[in-house]
Amino acid sequence: MKEIVIETKNADSEPTRRRVEADKVLMAVGAVPSTRIPRTTSGIEVDEKGYLLTRDVPYGMTSRKGVFAGGDVANRQATVVHAMRDAKMVAEGIAQYIDAVKLMEMIG
Ligand SMILES: Cc1cc2nc3c(=O)[nH]c(=O)nc-3n(C[C@H](O)[C@H](O)[C@H](O)COP(=O)(O)OP(=O)(O)OC[C@H]3O[C@@H](n4cnc5c(N)ncnc54)[C@H](O)[C@@H]3O)c2cc1C
Repeated sequence: MKEIVIETKNADSEPTRRRVEADKVLMAVGAVPSTRIPRTTSGIEVDEKGYLLTRDVPYGMTSRKGVFAGGDVANRQATVVHAMRDAKMVAEGIAQYIDAVKLMEMIG
């Protein structure tokens, strides 16, 4: 059994520390983008920290045509409100892209 120290930081107050006894500590929350994304999906460009690069028009499209991303993995903002707003904007970007593809197919 080991002892670990959990430090909780809050922007408005001093950090608090708590000691807990544990055999193992498993990190089970996402904190940075998975390196698996660019490794397994060709044509996806990321920045130096692994965040997916996306376009403004159509909103959310990655460097791979027709593949979109939003939320934490692309924009780093890390709040639910930002992720929800981004999801709506990405949905609009996807709709624009589909309309554009259909139009191009229609005109040959
Ligand atoms: C511990 C913790 C506490 C937080 N507290 C707050 C808070 O109090 N208030 C707040 O506003 N924000 C908080 N956040 C941040 C908030 O959770 C995120 O900003 C938000 O969830 C981002 O939403 P998202 O849709 O971008 O990503 P996520 O919510 O991470 O969703 C991504 C989804 O994609 C899935 N996924 C990943 N890889 C694959 C794959 N290869 N195939 C299929 N699916 C895949 C994941 O399983 C996940 O369900 C907290 C985050 C953490 C980690």
